[in-house]
Amino acid sequence: MKEFNINSLVRKNILELQPYISFRDTNEFENPVLLDSNESPFGELNRYPDSTQKELKQKLSEIKNISASQIAVGNGSDELIDLIIKVFCEPKKDSILMMNPSFAMYGFYASINENNVVKLNLNENFEIYKDEFLNIIKENQLKIFFLCSPNNPTGNCIEDIEFYIKNFNGIVVVDEAYIEFSGKKSCTELLEKYPNLIVLQTFSKAWGMAGTRVGIAYSSQEIIKLINTVKAPYNVNSLSLNKIIEIINKQEVVNSNIENTLNEISWLKNEFQSVKCIKKIYPTNANFFLIEFENVEKVYDKLLKNEILTSKRSPQIPNCIRINVGNRKENTQLIQVLKSI
Ligand SMILES: *Cc1c(COP(=O)(O)O)cnc(C)c1O
Repeated sequence: MKEFNINSLVRKNILELQPYISFRDTNEFENPVLLDSNESPFGELNRYPDSTQKELKQKLSEIKNISASQIAVGNGSDELIDLIIKVFCEPKKDSILMMNPSFAMYGFYASINENNVVKLNLNENFEIYKDEFLNIIKENQLKIFFLCSPNNPTGNCIEDIEFYIKNFNGIVVVDEAYIEFSGKKSCTELLEKYPNLIVLQTFSKAWGMAGTRVGIAYSSQEIIKLINTVKAPYNVNSLSLNKIIEIINKQEVVNSNIENTLNEISWLKNEFQSVKCIKKIYPTNANFFLIEFENVEKVYDKLLKNEILTSKRSPQIPNCIRINVGNRKENTQLIQVLKSI
């Protein structure tokens, strides 16, 4: 196991912070009379949700084979990104590292917390240059590295993730928002080996539950405890928690939806062959394509005129649009418009 003193990375005020602990959620009762939280005794949703999200963690613990004490639940993984920065980064002092291009929210939350954002430029295949990584970590004091794989908006998996976890002298957050589409193994299997690792997953993409806003962090007990210390006590509402537990019990539906998306990816790849304005289709391990066009403005506007919304990545990624994989009807509409250009 990697030698690591987590506490030396944590902000002092967070180490000293007393977590808000709900007495009712951390003790066992048979049939309690609840007069402790000033709720209404009437109605269906009158009670606060379980601040410890016990039932969901128990379920996840079983399906992922990870201790419940190594799981934190967030209001989307967005909240977890924010909380992780708050735990480790001193405002106006500490810096984070992120890949470029990658998911904008790492920089967004770092900026809100007044932390500096250092960018690690990817190569033409959107891979990391290891030498560039080693240089950047030598030249900068960095607290957190946000490593997104499969990466958004490029769609590819990052190779040899363990190298970056091993060599980074801080916290490495591996964001696996699209892992279910990739067929790749989760980095959760590296948790035993690396106490500086946090793995993020979400119910927003493959699980089809973006509306519930539920994301998960897997890490060491110590880091999970710190995340739980800074989170709002009732950060995930009871409607969402119940819906997520329902969907976990219907994993076969989720699996068939993933299968369906993978089929649509093959179908689209084939259809793209006869679209003239496409210059390059980047390989994808996620549920979207990054595509380079001959005339990106024209393509984007034409799609928009037809009320097909896509994500223009130009000029940051020259001439590229990120296009989500929809259902067959949506994908057919997309192809029809693209072929008409
Ligand atoms: C969509 C996405 C998320 C998910 O965020 P939620 O807040 O859980 O909806 C996280 N990371 C990346 C890279 C994403 O693309």
